Amino acid sequence: MHGVERVGVVGSGQMGGGIAQVAAMSGFETVVYDLNSGALEKCKALHDKLLARAVEKGKMSADDVKATKDRLTYSDKLSDLHESDIVIEAVVERADVKKDLFKSLVGNLSGDAILASNTSSISITDLATSVGDAADRFIGMHFFNPVPVMKLVEVINGLATSKQTTERVLALATAMGKTAVPANDRAGFVSNRILMPMINEAFYAWMEGVAEPEHIDEIMKLGMAHPMGPLRLADFIGLDTCVHIMEVMAEGLNNPRYRACPLLKQLVTAGRLGDKTKHGVFRYD
Ligand code: NAD
Repeated sequence: MHGVERVGVVGSGQMGGGIAQVAAMSGFETVVYDLNSGALEKCKALHDKLLARAVEKGKMSADDVKATKDRLTYSDKLSDLHESDIVIEAVVERADVKKDLFKSLVGNLSGDAILASNTSSISITDLATSVGDAADRFIGMHFFNPVPVMKLVEVINGLATSKQTTERVLALATAMGKTAVPANDRAGFVSNRILMPMINEAFYAWMEGVAEPEHIDEIMKLGMAHPMGPLRLADFIGLDTCVHIMEVMAEGLNNPRYRACPLLKQLVTAGRLGDKTKHGVFRYD
């Protein structure tokens, strides 16, 4: 049993906003905290839009939407998270920022509150050093984008994570309508360790002239039943993020086979980052 009633989410961006929405829709009292009040406003506006659309499509009743909204609090005060039974952090992908945040939170939470990070690449064992004796309650809860749609939560055990914490988080993710799968703390976890080298290899195939980018994607879509080709997916994730995750794996797994493809790095140098700059492998006009 997860023993969670109140969920705190830190960061109201793409991931934090999605996590908060799903937590509230699943019946949890949810506080979403961000130091940027503009980001909180955008998050609330997006929730209102998505929930209204769910009613239009007949996926939720108006009463359910009202109850969901009543369970959601948007706050720019860290102290509003102090009653949380779990805090799920989804701030920028920087170890120093994440550690500072956990350091200022840990002493103010109850003694059995869970501390979870949605990091996609930073070591959970490393982040857990910021919470001292509470490292047994520290865990990775890796959601996928877009959170309301994607079923998976990769649950990452750090070196000190207790069995009880893992079991509580697996149960919580299930209560949030997700399929939770445990993994241990190695760079890239399971998802990125397998996905990113495939994406990287697609850039090598392009660089070496094996096929044109659209043909590489078509072959992987039709031949492997992937919903999106690897190069289109790289644009969606962000080419800078792909390079960053490859570098984390090359360093963390101490193996040069995880080095980013030179062509991938060159596109990042040129400012072609994918969907967010409207030009990556492909153009988005
Ligand atoms: P984002 O930039 O959309 O949102 C980050 C939010 O955190 C912003 O609103 C920012 O104002 C806020 N923030 C920054 N520092 C803060 C602090 N100290 N205290 C409170 N709020 C702070 O980022 P995102 O895409 O939602 O990513 C968040 C985390 O999730 C990262 O660790 C990322 O690696 C991970 N992640 C992202 C994806 C993805 O596809 N975007 C998938 C899985 C995991």
